[in-house]
Amino acid sequence: MSKVKVRIEGHYEVEDLPYGKDYVWVPAHALIECDCGQVMDADEHHTTCPNCGADRADVLREVAGRHLGDEVLHPWHPDYEVWRTFKENRTEYQEWLELRSLDQG
Ligand SMILES: [Zn+2]
Repeated sequence: MSKVKVRIEGHYEVEDLPYGKDYVWVPAHALIECDCGQVMDADEHHTTCPNCGADRADVLREVAGRHLGDEVLHPWHPDYEVWRTFKENRTEYQEWLELRSLDQG
């Protein structure tokens, strides 16, 4: 059984929107440390170790499924929940927009 270490590189980009914050997960790439010691910068198109030629596609797929899945894509954050509630309740949002335009007029 080969021992492969993986690190996911990525970050959230936070957009300030009138009704709250939007969180966008930006997965950059996965760093895979091959059992031969080579650390490789892997993405869906680059899964082969440049040192020993081992194909790490399986590892990458597993990691992507686990770390780049829904839990990562939808962070648990109060602001995010508020924004989601706003989006789900469009009537309230429309009313808020109207109030806002009155304020500005
Ligand atoms: Zn290798």
